[in-house]
Amino acid sequence: MGDKPKPRLKMYLVPCSCGMTFAVSEDYDRRGTSWRRYFACPACGKRHDPKNRLLEIGYQPEGYWKVDQC
Ligand SMILES: [Zn+2]
Repeated sequence: MGDKPKPRLKMYLVPCSCGMTFAVSEDYDRRGTSWRRYFACPACGKRHDPKNRLLEIGYQPEGYWKVDQC
C-alpha cells in the first residue's frame, strides 16, 4: 500500500423512529432498486426519505467516524 490519499467514503446516518440508527453508503441510490430513493430501516423496515434529516458522515483514514453537520 502506498501513501496515496484514499477517496473519502461517505455514509449517511439514518435515525429511525423505532430507535434504530443505521448507516447507508453514499452510492446506495446507484443500485437500481425501485425504492432506491429511500433507505429502509433494517430493524423495522420503515423507509426514510434521504432528503429528510440525515446525518452525513465521512470515514476518516485515521480510523474514526466524523459527523459532518449541515
Ligand atoms: Zn426502524
